[in-house]
Amino acid sequence: MHKAVLMTVKIPEKIIDFHVHLFPDKLFDAIRDSFVKNYDWHIIHQYYYQECVLRLRQSGVRSIVYSNYAHRAGIAEGLNRWNEKILQEYDDLYCFAAYHPDDDCALAMAKRLLENPKILGFKLQLLVQNFYPFDERLFPLYEMVIRKNKHLLLHTGTGPVGNPYVGLEPFMKVLEKFPELPATVAHMGAHEYAGFLGLLDRHPRLYLDTAFCFLPPPYEGYNLGPDYLEKYKSRILYGSDYPNLIAPREIEIENILKIDLSQEFYDKVFYDNGMALIRSLTGKTM
Ligand SMILES: [Zn+2]
Repeated sequence: MHKAVLMTVKIPEKIIDFHVHLFPDKLFDAIRDSFVKNYDWHIIHQYYYQECVLRLRQSGVRSIVYSNYAHRAGIAEGLNRWNEKILQEYDDLYCFAAYHPDDDCALAMAKRLLENPKILGFKLQLLVQNFYPFDERLFPLYEMVIRKNKHLLLHTGTGPVGNPYVGLEPFMKVLEKFPELPATVAHMGAHEYAGFLGLLDRHPRLYLDTAFCFLPPPYEGYNLGPDYLEKYKSRILYGSDYPNLIAPREIEIENILKIDLSQEFYDKVFYDNGMALIRSLTGKTM
């Protein structure tokens, strides 16, 4: 009998995608061009935000947590005005907003945004933004996020490529100063999987998301086997990186299913962990 028929575990009917990107149309175009230029990545889903939301909903995603980031100073405010607008257009849509520490009114803006229950916190994309996670300019932001019981989404791993600002070592430095940093490390910290997973033991408010980790070769994905995944199943969130993908998101879900983990793993990673986190960050009781 075919393996798929024997598989008894499955992902929940409605899932939460904790790593989606939505940008204004023009910025989406520019990002897609830069992926081709920098990584030779040809994004297969060339959709703008409305179609992204529609297609995700059609394929069973209930809650969508998206982010965008300011690749340079001066653009976060405009992006965040756009975020505030589209968050009003959809139920069950949440955002990690853009932030750049060199903006004049960065902290005042952050304070305003964190009053919005659908803004869960901020995304820092250190591969693109080119500063260290332990940069002192970020400390007031971290303090505010902790004080307001919000969260961060950090691209701080060395995948797909590195720069001086990403990797386990610089990230550990920020945890020395803020051991309780409430943050999700995107891509399970790729490619330093073991190191980032190990941080979960010592830092109770840290999560990892699965985006890009289970794509088919030649992408170098998660390679440590099922035991770590089971061990840390309460601290892993499903995320797709949709629509910035080079293989369909369904293939990645199939690959996660093929590992044949416990039903508890799929329930937690695809729904329960994300829902508990959204509830704790928004005060939502549903
Ligand atoms: Zn991403």
